[in-house]
Amino acid sequence: MSHRLYDAKMIIRNHYCDLSNDVTFALAVRHDFHHYFGSLEKNDSHNVICVHYILEDPPYEYQNLVMLICLHQILHVIHPEWDKDRVYAKCRELASLVGYLGNCLISSCSMSIILQGSRQYCSGS
Ligand SMILES: [Zn+2]
Repeated sequence: MSHRLYDAKMIIRNHYCDLSNDVTFALAVRHDFHHYFGSLEKNDSHNVICVHYILEDPPYEYQNLVMLICLHQILHVIHPEWDKDRVYAKCRELASLVGYLGNCLISSCSMSIILQGSRQYCSGS
């Protein structure tokens, strides 16, 4: 699963902005999420991106969801002042950009789950 975090950081670095080496990220699996797939726990400059346990070893069509969650939460860290609509919009823009470039396939399935809003991929604002 950690390669999805790596992918998300590379997307940010290659297509959006530099990430300070002082800011660190880790992934953790959580069993107490119900209506969302991901959340962020901050501890100074260390950020733990928490994902729903069903994504720990997901079927192929869900694998990009972990990358999207990471991308979304990294954007929250870069732009703490942004509201959720702005974070979602930038996340979608970056995801479609890399999908278009072929670096990372964004499955239509994972995007449609998110867009239908059956489960949010973020617990925050
Ligand atoms: Zn969010």
